[in-house]
Amino acid sequence: MLGLMQEVPLSIPMMLRRTRDLFPEKLVISRRPDRSITRTSYREVLERAGRLAHALRVLGVRDGDRVATLAWNHQRHLEAYFAIPSSGAVLHTLNLRLHPSDLAYIISHADDRVVLVDQVLWPLWEKVAPLVRVAHVIVMGDGGETPAGAIDYEALLAGAPDAPFPFDDRDERTAAAMCYTSGTTGRPKGVLYSHRAITLHTMMSLAADGPGISERDVLLPVVPMFHVNAWGFPFTAAFVGASQVHPGPHLDPASLLDLMAGERVTMAAGVPTIWLGILQALDQAPGKWNLSALRMTLVGGAAPPEAMIRGFKQRHGVVVQQGWGMTEMTPIGTVSHLRGEHEALPEHEKYHLLAKAGYPVIGVEIRARSEGGLIPWDGTTMGELEVRGPWIAREYYRPEEEITQFTEDGWFRTGDIVTIAPDGCVTITDRAKDVIKSGGEWVSSVALEGALMGHAEVFEAAVVGLPHSRWSERPFAVVVRKPGAQVDEQALKAWLAERFATWWVPDAMTFVDALPKTGTGKVQKSVLREQYRDRYAHAADAIQLPPAEAEA
Ligand code: ADP
Repeated sequence: MLGLMQEVPLSIPMMLRRTRDLFPEKLVISRRPDRSITRTSYREVLERAGRLAHALRVLGVRDGDRVATLAWNHQRHLEAYFAIPSSGAVLHTLNLRLHPSDLAYIISHADDRVVLVDQVLWPLWEKVAPLVRVAHVIVMGDGGETPAGAIDYEALLAGAPDAPFPFDDRDERTAAAMCYTSGTTGRPKGVLYSHRAITLHTMMSLAADGPGISERDVLLPVVPMFHVNAWGFPFTAAFVGASQVHPGPHLDPASLLDLMAGERVTMAAGVPTIWLGILQALDQAPGKWNLSALRMTLVGGAAPPEAMIRGFKQRHGVVVQQGWGMTEMTPIGTVSHLRGEHEALPEHEKYHLLAKAGYPVIGVEIRARSEGGLIPWDGTTMGELEVRGPWIAREYYRPEEEITQFTEDGWFRTGDIVTIAPDGCVTITDRAKDVIKSGGEWVSSVALEGALMGHAEVFEAAVVGLPHSRWSERPFAVVVRKPGAQVDEQALKAWLAERFATWWVPDAMTFVDALPKTGTGKVQKSVLREQYRDRYAHAADAIQLPPAEAEA
Protein backbone atom coordinates (compact mmCIF):
# COMPACT_ATOMS: atom_id res chain seq x y z
CA MET A 1 0.00 0.00 0.00
CA LEU A 2 1.36 3.44 -0.91
CA GLY A 3 1.12 6.43 1.37
CA LEU A 4 -1.41 9.10 0.52
CA MET A 5 0.65 12.26 0.81
CA GLN A 6 1.14 15.00 -1.78
CA GLU A 7 4.00 14.40 -4.14
CA VAL A 8 5.48 17.86 -4.31
CA PRO A 9 8.78 17.51 -6.19
CA LEU A 10 11.89 18.42 -4.23
CA SER A 11 13.35 21.02 -6.55
CA ILE A 12 15.18 24.30 -6.79
CA PRO A 13 12.01 26.15 -7.94
CA MET A 14 10.24 24.78 -4.86
CA MET A 15 12.97 26.24 -2.64
CA LEU A 16 12.97 29.55 -4.49
CA ARG A 17 9.20 29.97 -4.10
CA ARG A 18 9.87 30.21 -0.40
CA THR A 19 12.58 32.81 -0.99
CA ARG A 20 10.14 34.82 -3.12
CA ASP A 21 7.28 34.59 -0.61
CA LEU A 22 9.06 34.97 2.70
CA PHE A 23 12.43 36.65 2.21
CA PRO A 24 12.32 38.97 -0.81
CA GLU A 25 14.12 41.75 1.04
CA LYS A 26 16.98 39.72 2.47
CA LEU A 27 20.32 40.73 1.03
CA VAL A 28 22.73 39.51 -1.59
CA ILE A 29 26.01 41.40 -1.23
CA SER A 30 28.98 41.06 -3.58
CA ARG A 31 32.40 42.53 -3.96
CA ARG A 32 33.22 43.46 -7.54
CA PRO A 33 36.65 43.16 -9.16
CA ASP A 34 37.24 46.91 -8.55
CA ARG A 35 36.60 46.18 -4.83
CA SER A 36 33.34 48.16 -4.72
CA ILE A 37 30.46 46.43 -2.95
CA THR A 38 27.02 45.92 -4.47
CA ARG A 39 23.93 45.21 -2.40
CA THR A 40 20.70 43.88 -3.68
CA SER A 41 17.75 41.78 -2.54
CA TYR A 42 16.53 38.30 -3.38
CA ARG A 43 13.59 40.05 -5.05
CA GLU A 44 15.89 41.69 -7.56
CA VAL A 45 18.07 38.60 -7.99
CA LEU A 46 15.00 36.50 -8.77
CA GLU A 47 13.64 39.13 -11.13
CA ARG A 48 16.93 39.25 -13.04
CA ALA A 49 17.32 35.45 -12.90
CA GLY A 50 13.85 35.18 -14.47
CA ARG A 51 15.07 37.33 -17.36
CA LEU A 52 18.16 35.21 -17.73
CA ALA A 53 16.09 32.02 -17.79
CA HIS A 54 13.92 33.35 -20.63
CA ALA A 55 16.86 34.83 -22.50
CA LEU A 56 18.59 31.44 -22.48
CA ARG A 57 15.46 29.89 -23.99
CA VAL A 58 15.51 32.52 -26.72
CA LEU A 59 19.15 31.59 -27.40
CA GLY A 60 18.00 28.06 -28.02
CA VAL A 61 18.78 26.41 -24.68
CA ARG A 62 16.45 23.45 -24.15
CA ASP A 63 15.67 21.12 -21.26
CA GLY A 64 18.76 19.19 -20.23
CA ASP A 65 21.23 21.40 -22.12
CA ARG A 66 24.36 22.23 -20.18
CA VAL A 67 25.00 25.92 -19.51
CA ALA A 68 28.44 26.56 -18.06
CA THR A 69 29.75 29.33 -15.83
CA LEU A 70 33.36 30.48 -15.55
CA ALA A 71 33.02 32.96 -12.75
CA TRP A 72 33.96 34.10 -9.25
CA ASN A 73 31.39 34.28 -6.44
CA HIS A 74 29.01 37.19 -7.03
CA GLN A 75 25.42 38.24 -7.62
CA ARG A 76 25.33 37.37 -11.31
CA HIS A 77 26.73 33.93 -10.64
CA LEU A 78 23.90 33.51 -8.14
CA GLU A 79 21.42 34.57 -10.80
CA ALA A 80 22.82 31.79 -13.00
CA TYR A 81 22.52 29.36 -10.07
CA PHE A 82 18.81 30.14 -9.82
CA ALA A 83 17.96 30.61 -13.50
CA ILE A 84 19.69 27.71 -15.23
CA PRO A 85 18.30 24.76 -13.21
CA SER A 86 14.88 26.39 -12.84
CA SER A 87 14.64 26.80 -16.61
CA GLY A 88 15.23 23.07 -17.09
CA ALA A 89 18.87 23.35 -18.15
CA VAL A 90 21.89 22.11 -16.22
CA LEU A 91 24.22 24.53 -14.42
CA HIS A 92 27.78 23.42 -15.14
CA THR A 93 30.27 25.29 -12.97
CA LEU A 94 33.83 25.42 -14.34
CA ASN A 95 36.87 25.60 -12.10
CA LEU A 96 38.69 28.76 -13.17
CA ARG A 97 41.96 27.50 -11.70
CA LEU A 98 42.24 24.58 -14.08
CA HIS A 99 44.59 24.52 -17.03
CA PRO A 100 42.90 25.64 -20.30
CA SER A 101 43.36 22.16 -21.77
CA ASP A 102 41.56 20.59 -18.80
CA LEU A 103 38.77 23.15 -19.10
CA ALA A 104 38.49 22.35 -22.79
CA TYR A 105 38.29 18.64 -22.03
CA ILE A 106 35.55 19.21 -19.44
CA ILE A 107 33.53 21.60 -21.62
CA SER A 108 33.69 19.19 -24.56
CA HIS A 109 32.91 16.18 -22.41
CA ALA A 110 29.89 17.91 -20.88
CA ASP A 111 28.93 19.24 -24.32
CA ASP A 112 28.23 22.70 -22.91
CA ARG A 113 25.98 24.75 -25.17
CA VAL A 114 26.42 28.19 -23.63
CA VAL A 115 29.15 29.60 -21.37
CA LEU A 116 28.81 32.60 -19.05
CA VAL A 117 32.24 34.16 -18.45
CA ASP A 118 33.40 36.89 -16.06
CA GLN A 119 35.02 39.69 -18.01
CA VAL A 120 38.03 39.52 -15.68
CA LEU A 121 38.44 35.89 -16.73
CA TRP A 122 38.34 36.66 -20.45
CA PRO A 123 42.12 36.13 -20.84
CA LEU A 124 41.60 32.58 -19.56
CA TRP A 125 38.60 32.04 -21.80
CA GLU A 126 40.62 33.18 -24.83
CA LYS A 127 42.95 30.24 -24.25
CA VAL A 128 40.06 27.79 -23.94
CA ALA A 129 37.86 29.09 -26.75
CA PRO A 130 39.91 27.78 -29.72
CA LEU A 131 39.78 24.29 -28.20
CA VAL A 132 35.99 23.99 -27.78
CA ARG A 133 32.73 24.48 -29.64
CA VAL A 134 29.94 26.26 -27.79
CA ALA A 135 26.94 27.99 -29.34
CA HIS A 136 27.07 31.21 -27.30
CA VAL A 137 29.45 33.01 -24.96
CA ILE A 138 27.92 35.52 -22.56
CA VAL A 139 30.20 38.00 -20.82
CA MET A 140 29.45 39.25 -17.34
CA GLY A 141 31.12 42.59 -17.85
CA ASP A 142 32.48 45.13 -15.43
CA GLY A 143 32.58 48.27 -17.47
CA GLY A 144 34.99 47.17 -20.20
CA GLU A 145 34.07 46.61 -23.82
CA THR A 146 32.32 43.35 -24.68
CA PRO A 147 34.72 41.18 -26.70
CA ALA A 148 33.76 40.64 -30.34
CA GLY A 149 31.44 37.71 -30.87
CA ALA A 150 30.32 37.57 -27.23
CA ILE A 151 26.96 38.62 -25.79
CA ASP A 152 26.89 41.20 -23.02
CA TYR A 153 25.07 39.81 -19.96
CA GLU A 154 23.30 43.06 -19.10
CA ALA A 155 22.21 43.64 -22.69
CA LEU A 156 20.90 40.07 -22.78
CA LEU A 157 18.83 40.66 -19.64
CA ALA A 158 17.59 44.03 -20.85
CA GLY A 159 16.34 42.47 -24.09
CA ALA A 160 14.79 39.41 -22.45
CA PRO A 161 11.04 38.74 -22.60
CA ASP A 162 9.23 40.30 -19.67
CA ALA A 163 8.03 37.01 -18.21
CA PRO A 164 8.10 35.83 -14.60
CA PHE A 165 10.72 33.53 -13.10
CA PRO A 166 10.02 29.84 -13.87
CA PHE A 167 8.87 28.81 -10.41
CA ASP A 168 6.99 25.75 -11.70
CA ASP A 169 7.66 22.31 -10.31
CA ARG A 170 10.20 20.13 -12.05
CA ASP A 171 10.55 16.38 -11.81
CA GLU A 172 12.82 16.05 -8.81
CA ARG A 173 14.99 13.46 -10.55
CA THR A 174 16.01 15.78 -13.39
CA ALA A 175 19.57 17.05 -13.52
CA ALA A 176 20.02 20.53 -12.03
CA ALA A 177 23.78 21.03 -11.89
CA MET A 178 27.06 19.37 -12.66
CA CYS A 179 30.62 19.60 -11.43
CA TYR A 180 33.73 17.67 -12.46
CA THR A 181 36.08 16.14 -9.93
CA SER A 182 39.55 17.59 -10.02
CA GLY A 183 40.96 14.62 -11.87
CA THR A 184 43.84 14.12 -9.47
CA THR A 185 43.20 10.40 -9.99
CA GLY A 186 42.71 9.93 -13.73
CA ARG A 187 40.51 12.03 -16.01
CA PRO A 188 38.09 14.53 -14.43
CA LYS A 189 34.75 12.82 -13.89
CA GLY A 190 31.38 14.53 -14.17
CA VAL A 191 28.97 14.46 -11.24
CA LEU A 192 25.40 15.26 -12.20
CA TYR A 193 23.31 16.58 -9.30
CA SER A 194 19.54 16.17 -9.36
CA HIS A 195 17.06 18.74 -8.04
CA ARG A 196 16.15 16.23 -5.36
CA ALA A 197 19.76 15.74 -4.22
CA ILE A 198 20.36 19.47 -3.95
CA THR A 199 17.10 20.05 -2.09
CA LEU A 200 17.70 17.28 0.45
CA HIS A 201 21.31 18.41 0.93
CA THR A 202 19.93 21.90 1.59
CA MET A 203 17.53 20.61 4.23
CA MET A 204 20.34 18.68 5.90
CA SER A 205 22.38 21.90 6.05
CA LEU A 206 19.71 23.35 8.34
CA ALA A 207 20.02 20.60 10.96
CA ALA A 208 21.30 21.84 14.30
CA ASP A 209 23.94 19.11 14.56
CA GLY A 210 25.07 19.94 11.02
CA PRO A 211 25.90 23.42 9.77
CA GLY A 212 22.61 24.54 11.37
CA ILE A 213 22.01 27.48 9.04
CA SER A 214 19.05 29.71 9.88
CA GLU A 215 17.25 32.83 8.71
CA ARG A 216 19.36 34.92 11.08
CA ASP A 217 22.59 33.96 9.38
CA VAL A 218 24.64 36.08 7.05
CA LEU A 219 26.61 33.55 5.02
CA LEU A 220 29.90 34.09 3.31
CA PRO A 221 30.91 31.16 1.13
CA VAL A 222 34.62 31.64 0.55
CA VAL A 223 34.40 28.23 -1.07
CA PRO A 224 34.07 29.04 -4.75
CA MET A 225 30.76 28.72 -6.56
CA PHE A 226 32.68 26.61 -9.09
CA HIS A 227 33.44 23.99 -6.44
CA VAL A 228 30.51 21.66 -5.64
CA ASN A 229 27.90 24.44 -5.71
CA ALA A 230 29.86 26.36 -3.06
CA TRP A 231 28.99 23.47 -0.73
CA GLY A 232 25.32 24.24 -1.38
CA PHE A 233 25.36 27.56 0.50
CA PRO A 234 23.81 29.75 -2.22
CA PHE A 235 20.76 27.43 -2.24
CA THR A 236 20.70 26.92 1.51
CA ALA A 237 20.84 30.65 2.23
CA ALA A 238 18.07 31.41 -0.25
CA PHE A 239 15.79 28.63 1.02
CA VAL A 240 16.10 29.55 4.65
CA GLY A 241 16.19 33.30 4.09
CA ALA A 242 19.75 33.98 5.21
CA SER A 243 21.53 36.87 3.53
CA GLN A 244 24.57 35.93 1.46
CA VAL A 245 27.84 37.74 0.92
CA HIS A 246 30.14 36.97 -2.00
CA PRO A 247 33.81 37.95 -2.08
CA GLY A 248 34.31 38.13 -5.86
CA PRO A 249 37.94 37.59 -6.81
CA HIS A 250 39.32 39.08 -3.56
CA LEU A 251 40.25 36.08 -1.43
CA ASP A 252 43.23 37.44 0.49
CA PRO A 253 42.85 37.36 4.29
CA ALA A 254 42.52 41.14 4.74
CA SER A 255 39.79 41.48 2.09
CA LEU A 256 37.85 38.57 3.58
CA LEU A 257 38.22 39.91 7.11
CA ASP A 258 37.07 43.37 5.99
CA LEU A 259 34.01 41.79 4.42
CA MET A 260 33.24 39.56 7.41
CA ALA A 261 33.55 42.43 9.88
CA GLY A 262 31.86 45.02 7.66
CA GLU A 263 28.85 42.88 6.76
CA ARG A 264 28.49 41.26 10.19
CA VAL A 265 28.90 37.79 8.66
CA THR A 266 27.71 35.02 11.03
CA MET A 267 29.04 32.03 9.18
CA ALA A 268 31.75 31.56 6.56
CA ALA A 269 33.01 28.46 4.83
CA GLY A 270 36.16 27.44 3.00
CA VAL A 271 39.21 25.17 2.82
CA PRO A 272 41.85 25.13 5.60
CA THR A 273 44.41 27.10 3.58
CA ILE A 274 42.11 30.13 3.55
CA TRP A 275 41.56 29.87 7.28
CA LEU A 276 45.24 29.41 8.10
CA GLY A 277 45.86 32.72 6.32
CA ILE A 278 42.99 34.40 8.15
CA LEU A 279 44.18 33.13 11.54
CA GLN A 280 47.66 34.48 10.85
CA ALA A 281 46.24 37.89 9.89
CA LEU A 282 44.12 37.97 13.06
CA ASP A 283 47.09 37.00 15.21
CA GLN A 284 49.21 39.73 13.66
CA ALA A 285 46.61 42.45 14.23
CA PRO A 286 44.47 41.45 17.21
CA GLY A 287 41.40 43.64 17.57
CA LYS A 288 41.67 45.10 14.07
CA TRP A 289 38.56 43.28 12.87
CA ASN A 290 35.38 42.96 14.89
CA LEU A 291 34.21 39.40 14.36
CA SER A 292 31.67 39.39 17.18
CA ALA A 293 28.89 38.42 14.76
CA LEU A 294 30.77 35.38 13.44
CA ARG A 295 29.25 32.37 15.19
CA MET A 296 30.99 29.69 13.20
CA THR A 297 33.25 28.87 10.29
CA LEU A 298 32.79 25.64 8.39
CA VAL A 299 36.17 24.32 7.30
CA GLY A 300 36.53 21.33 5.02
CA GLY A 301 37.90 19.99 1.79
CA ALA A 302 41.09 18.97 3.62
CA ALA A 303 41.82 18.35 7.28
CA PRO A 304 42.01 21.53 9.40
CA PRO A 305 44.83 21.15 11.96
CA GLU A 306 43.73 20.95 15.59
CA ALA A 307 46.01 23.88 16.46
CA MET A 308 44.06 26.06 14.04
CA ILE A 309 40.71 25.06 15.53
CA ARG A 310 42.05 25.84 19.02
CA GLY A 311 43.73 29.07 17.91
CA PHE A 312 40.52 30.49 16.43
CA LYS A 313 38.49 29.72 19.54
CA GLN A 314 40.99 30.61 22.24
CA ARG A 315 42.51 33.72 20.70
CA HIS A 316 39.59 35.09 18.67
CA GLY A 317 36.43 33.45 20.02
CA VAL A 318 35.57 31.88 16.66
CA VAL A 319 34.16 28.35 16.54
CA VAL A 320 35.44 26.10 13.76
CA GLN A 321 33.26 23.24 12.61
CA GLN A 322 34.92 20.72 10.37
CA GLY A 323 33.12 19.24 7.40
CA TRP A 324 34.23 16.30 5.32
CA GLY A 325 32.77 15.72 1.90
CA MET A 326 33.34 15.16 -1.77
CA THR A 327 32.23 16.45 -5.14
CA GLU A 328 30.34 13.17 -5.50
CA MET A 329 28.41 13.98 -2.28
CA THR A 330 26.95 17.44 -3.08
CA PRO A 331 29.35 17.64 -0.96
CA ILE A 332 28.73 17.33 2.80
CA GLY A 333 29.09 13.87 4.35
CA THR A 334 30.23 14.34 7.95
CA VAL A 335 30.60 17.26 10.34
CA SER A 336 32.43 17.52 13.62
CA HIS A 337 30.50 18.51 16.70
CA LEU A 338 30.39 17.65 20.36
CA ARG A 339 27.69 15.36 21.64
CA GLY A 340 25.89 15.85 24.93
CA GLU A 341 28.15 13.39 26.71
CA HIS A 342 31.25 15.30 25.60
CA GLU A 343 30.34 18.48 27.47
CA ALA A 344 32.08 17.28 30.62
CA LEU A 345 35.35 16.45 28.85
CA PRO A 346 38.46 18.55 29.50
CA GLU A 347 39.09 21.28 26.90
CA HIS A 348 41.99 19.56 25.14
CA GLU A 349 39.91 16.42 24.54
CA LYS A 350 37.13 18.52 23.05
CA TYR A 351 39.54 20.07 20.56
CA HIS A 352 40.88 16.64 19.78
CA LEU A 353 37.35 15.50 18.91
CA LEU A 354 36.63 18.60 16.84
CA ALA A 355 39.74 17.93 14.77
CA LYS A 356 38.17 14.70 13.51
CA ALA A 357 35.95 14.60 10.44
CA GLY A 358 33.06 13.91 12.82
CA TYR A 359 29.69 12.24 12.49
CA PRO A 360 27.76 11.40 9.33
CA VAL A 361 25.12 14.07 8.79
CA ILE A 362 21.46 13.06 8.75
CA GLY A 363 20.80 11.18 5.53
CA VAL A 364 24.30 9.75 5.10
CA GLU A 365 25.19 6.17 6.05
CA ILE A 366 28.80 5.05 6.47
CA ARG A 367 30.85 1.89 6.63
CA ALA A 368 34.52 1.13 5.92
CA ARG A 369 36.29 -1.80 4.38
CA SER A 370 39.78 -3.25 4.40
CA GLU A 371 41.10 -6.31 2.61
CA GLY A 372 39.47 -8.51 5.23
CA GLY A 373 35.95 -7.06 4.76
CA LEU A 374 34.03 -4.39 6.67
CA ILE A 375 36.07 -3.05 9.56
CA PRO A 376 34.84 -2.84 13.15
CA TRP A 377 33.93 0.58 14.56
CA ASP A 378 36.70 0.49 17.14
CA GLY A 379 38.47 3.77 16.46
CA THR A 380 41.72 2.07 15.47
CA THR A 381 41.18 -0.29 12.52
CA MET A 382 41.72 1.49 9.22
CA GLY A 383 39.68 0.95 6.08
CA GLU A 384 38.34 2.72 3.03
CA LEU A 385 35.20 4.71 3.77
CA GLU A 386 32.04 3.84 1.82
CA VAL A 387 28.94 6.03 1.88
CA ARG A 388 25.30 5.86 0.87
CA GLY A 389 22.62 8.53 0.78
CA PRO A 390 20.18 10.50 -1.37
CA TRP A 391 22.73 13.18 -2.38
CA ILE A 392 25.54 10.78 -3.24
CA ALA A 393 26.34 9.94 -6.88
CA ARG A 394 25.26 6.52 -8.12
CA GLU A 395 27.35 6.85 -11.30
CA TYR A 396 29.42 9.39 -13.22
CA TYR A 397 28.33 11.26 -16.31
CA ARG A 398 29.46 9.34 -19.40
CA PRO A 399 32.62 7.89 -17.82
CA GLU A 400 35.49 7.32 -20.21
CA GLU A 401 37.32 4.84 -18.07
CA GLU A 402 36.33 1.84 -16.05
CA ILE A 403 34.82 2.98 -12.77
CA THR A 404 35.40 0.88 -9.69
CA GLN A 405 34.12 3.33 -7.13
CA PHE A 406 30.58 2.01 -6.84
CA THR A 407 29.96 -1.24 -4.98
CA GLU A 408 27.53 -3.86 -6.19
CA ASP A 409 25.12 -3.06 -3.38
CA GLY A 410 25.00 0.63 -4.27
CA TRP A 411 27.53 2.31 -1.98
CA PHE A 412 30.15 4.81 -3.11
CA ARG A 413 33.79 4.07 -2.34
CA THR A 414 35.30 7.38 -1.24
CA GLY A 415 39.00 6.57 -1.60
CA ASP A 416 39.53 7.97 1.90
CA ILE A 417 41.17 5.82 4.55
CA VAL A 418 39.50 6.22 7.93
CA THR A 419 38.93 4.84 11.37
CA ILE A 420 35.42 4.87 12.82
CA ALA A 421 34.93 5.16 16.58
CA PRO A 422 32.27 3.05 18.34
CA ASP A 423 29.94 6.09 18.40
CA GLY A 424 30.32 6.62 14.61
CA CYS A 425 32.86 9.44 14.71
CA VAL A 426 35.07 9.33 11.61
CA THR A 427 38.78 10.15 11.53
CA ILE A 428 40.32 10.60 8.09
CA THR A 429 43.84 9.25 8.14
CA ASP A 430 44.62 9.75 4.46
CA ARG A 431 43.41 9.66 0.93
CA ALA A 432 44.15 6.21 -0.43
CA LYS A 433 46.50 7.67 -3.02
CA ASP A 434 48.41 9.63 -0.36
CA VAL A 435 48.73 6.78 2.10
CA ILE A 436 52.26 6.16 3.32
CA LYS A 437 53.13 2.53 3.75
CA SER A 438 56.40 2.06 5.56
CA GLY A 439 57.69 -1.43 6.23
CA GLY A 440 54.17 -2.75 5.63
CA GLU A 441 52.54 -0.39 8.15
CA TRP A 442 50.38 2.67 7.51
CA VAL A 443 51.62 6.06 8.62
CA SER A 444 48.96 8.80 8.68
CA SER A 445 50.15 11.89 6.84
CA VAL A 446 47.10 13.80 8.13
CA ALA A 447 48.08 13.10 11.75
CA LEU A 448 51.71 14.13 11.17
CA GLU A 449 50.68 17.31 9.36
CA GLY A 450 48.26 18.22 12.17
CA ALA A 451 51.04 17.82 14.72
CA LEU A 452 53.55 19.84 12.69
CA MET A 453 51.02 22.64 12.27
CA GLY A 454 50.51 22.52 16.02
CA HIS A 455 54.06 23.82 16.47
CA ALA A 456 54.04 27.54 17.23
CA GLU A 457 56.54 28.35 14.48
CA VAL A 458 54.96 26.33 11.67
CA PHE A 459 52.48 27.90 9.29
CA GLU A 460 51.70 24.95 7.04
CA ALA A 461 53.05 21.46 6.43
CA ALA A 462 52.59 18.49 4.15
CA VAL A 463 53.86 14.97 4.65
CA VAL A 464 54.31 12.58 1.75
CA GLY A 465 55.64 9.06 1.38
CA LEU A 466 58.80 8.82 -0.74
CA PRO A 467 60.19 5.63 -2.26
CA HIS A 468 62.73 4.06 0.05
CA SER A 469 64.96 1.16 -0.87
CA ARG A 470 64.54 -0.63 2.44
CA TRP A 471 61.13 0.31 3.85
CA SER A 472 59.43 0.75 0.45
CA GLU A 473 58.28 4.21 1.60
CA ARG A 474 59.22 6.65 4.32
CA PRO A 475 57.51 9.88 5.35
CA PHE A 476 59.05 13.18 4.26
CA ALA A 477 57.84 16.57 5.48
CA VAL A 478 57.65 19.83 3.55
CA VAL A 479 57.24 22.73 5.95
CA VAL A 480 56.35 26.41 5.62
CA ARG A 481 57.57 28.39 8.63
CA LYS A 482 55.66 31.36 10.04
CA PRO A 483 57.15 34.71 9.03
CA GLY A 484 60.39 35.31 10.95
CA ALA A 485 60.39 31.81 12.51
CA GLN A 486 63.67 29.93 12.80
CA VAL A 487 62.58 26.44 13.80
CA ASP A 488 64.77 23.73 12.24
CA GLU A 489 64.56 20.08 11.27
CA GLN A 490 66.02 18.79 14.49
CA ALA A 491 63.54 20.69 16.63
CA LEU A 492 60.57 19.55 14.56
CA LYS A 493 61.70 15.94 14.62
CA ALA A 494 61.96 16.16 18.39
CA TRP A 495 58.48 17.70 18.50
CA LEU A 496 57.08 14.79 16.50
CA ALA A 497 59.05 12.19 18.44
CA GLU A 498 57.20 13.29 21.60
CA ARG A 499 53.90 12.52 19.89
CA PHE A 500 54.40 9.51 17.62
CA ALA A 501 56.22 6.18 17.45
CA THR A 502 59.79 6.64 16.22
CA TRP A 503 59.10 5.04 12.87
CA TRP A 504 56.36 7.58 12.12
CA VAL A 505 58.75 10.53 12.35
CA PRO A 506 59.85 11.67 8.88
CA ASP A 507 63.49 10.83 8.21
CA ALA A 508 64.00 14.22 6.63
CA MET A 509 62.20 17.44 5.92
CA THR A 510 62.67 20.56 3.89
CA PHE A 511 61.57 24.16 4.38
CA VAL A 512 59.84 26.06 1.57
CA ASP A 513 58.06 29.41 1.15
CA ALA A 514 54.76 27.92 -0.04
CA LEU A 515 53.19 24.56 -0.83
CA PRO A 516 51.85 23.76 -4.31
CA LYS A 517 48.03 23.89 -4.29
CA THR A 518 45.29 22.44 -6.47
CA GLY A 519 42.58 24.51 -8.09
CA THR A 520 40.47 24.10 -4.97
CA GLY A 521 43.23 25.12 -2.57
CA LYS A 522 44.42 21.71 -1.43
CA VAL A 523 48.05 20.68 -1.17
CA GLN A 524 49.20 18.94 -4.34
CA LYS A 525 50.97 15.98 -2.83
CA SER A 526 51.60 14.39 -6.22
CA VAL A 527 53.79 17.39 -7.10
CA LEU A 528 55.74 17.06 -3.85
CA ARG A 529 56.23 13.33 -4.36
CA GLU A 530 57.58 13.98 -7.83
CA GLN A 531 59.80 16.85 -6.72
CA TYR A 532 61.49 14.93 -3.91
CA ARG A 533 61.15 11.41 -5.27
CA ASP A 534 64.87 10.51 -5.13
CA ARG A 535 65.40 11.82 -1.64
CA TYR A 536 65.45 8.40 0.07
CA ALA A 537 66.37 6.27 -2.92
CA HIS A 538 69.73 5.26 -1.48
CA ALA A 539 69.05 5.72 2.18
CA ALA A 540 68.65 2.07 3.12
CA ASP A 541 70.38 2.27 6.45
CA ALA A 542 69.33 5.69 7.48
CA ILE A 543 66.42 4.60 9.61
CA GLN A 544 66.21 3.12 12.90
CA LEU A 545 63.67 0.43 13.60
CA PRO A 546 61.25 -1.67 11.68
CA PRO A 547 57.68 -0.76 12.64
CA ALA A 548 57.03 -3.92 14.62
CA GLU A 549 60.07 -3.40 16.83
CA ALA A 550 59.36 0.28 17.23
CA GLU A 551 55.87 -0.45 18.47
CA ALA A 552 56.99 -3.13 20.91
P1 ADP B 1 39.42 17.05 -5.16
O1 ADP B 1 40.08 17.23 -3.84
O2 ADP B 1 39.89 15.82 -5.86
O3 ADP B 1 39.36 18.28 -5.95
P2 ADP B 1 36.90 16.93 -3.79
O4 ADP B 1 36.74 18.36 -3.54
O5 ADP B 1 35.71 16.14 -4.12
O6 ADP B 1 37.89 16.71 -4.96
O7 ADP B 1 37.69 16.33 -2.60
C1 ADP B 1 37.20 15.36 -1.77
C2 ADP B 1 38.31 14.86 -0.91
O8 ADP B 1 38.85 15.89 -0.10
C3 ADP B 1 37.88 13.79 0.05
O9 ADP B 1 37.82 12.53 -0.56
C4 ADP B 1 38.97 13.88 1.12
O10 ADP B 1 40.12 13.17 0.74
C5 ADP B 1 39.30 15.35 1.14
N1 ADP B 1 38.62 16.00 2.25
C6 ADP B 1 37.49 16.70 2.22
N2 ADP B 1 37.16 17.14 3.44
C7 ADP B 1 38.12 16.70 4.29
C8 ADP B 1 38.34 16.81 5.70
N3 ADP B 1 37.54 17.50 6.50
N4 ADP B 1 39.43 16.19 6.20
C9 ADP B 1 40.28 15.49 5.42
N5 ADP B 1 40.11 15.36 4.09
C10 ADP B 1 39.06 15.96 3.52
